[in-house]
Amino acid sequence: MPYKHFFFDLDNTLTRSKSPILPEHEQILLDMSRQADVVVVSGSSEKNIWGRLTDLSKGNYYSLTQNGNRAFDKDRSLLWERLLSPSQKEAATKFVALARKHTPTVVPDENDLLEDRGCQMAFSFIGQHADIDLKEKFDPDFSKRRAVLADLHDEVALLESEHGLEITIGGTTNLDIYLKGMNKGHNTGELIALRGWQKEECIYIGDALFPGGNDETVVGVIATRPVKDYHETYAYLTSFLAT
Ligand SMILES: [Mg+2]
Repeated sequence: MPYKHFFFDLDNTLTRSKSPILPEHEQILLDMSRQADVVVVSGSSEKNIWGRLTDLSKGNYYSLTQNGNRAFDKDRSLLWERLLSPSQKEAATKFVALARKHTPTVVPDENDLLEDRGCQMAFSFIGQHADIDLKEKFDPDFSKRRAVLADLHDEVALLESEHGLEITIGGTTNLDIYLKGMNKGHNTGELIALRGWQKEECIYIGDALFPGGNDETVVGVIATRPVKDYHETYAYLTSFLAT
């Protein structure tokens, strides 16, 4: 084992976006978890993550949900959570209205766009539960969402200075809004400190480690390994699991 603690993004790193893990991949991840710590770090809610990784995730993987703002031990007991206040949720909702005006999009269900996950407001331009093919085509290179954040720079800055909120690009169609600085990178470091692990013995694997990607904040915290998609992740893991 090259590392003792493996951190993974979920969407497109362990599974296809929003999709369940494939049985053959689940076996590889389980084998991994018997020899090293497995930590899943995702913008998704715990219900979504555990549903996609099946009941076998219980007792075997740490879950840093909502970008790590609600964190669970392997046995699914709560380690910490950072809830948003009602006024922060209101500010996030106002920002979402501006983002929608900036990039008008045809959506299948108007009521499926903004999800209050407690520690994070998750806005999808298309819909949280919209067709995956549709979602994957929306913004594959993140350029649309980067343009929204760049053009609404002043509003993003205000959200940060007045409401203590941070916005990052998440999933295939999302903007994730949560407490300032409490991103994947910070929360990865938080678990390492809590468990007393050595940073040199940790690695984070993700498909969006590039500038502007939703794994970028982990760069500089621990070693990182970019992958093109989840197939590449399992090819990497089996390269040393077999030895
Ligand atoms: Mg991803």
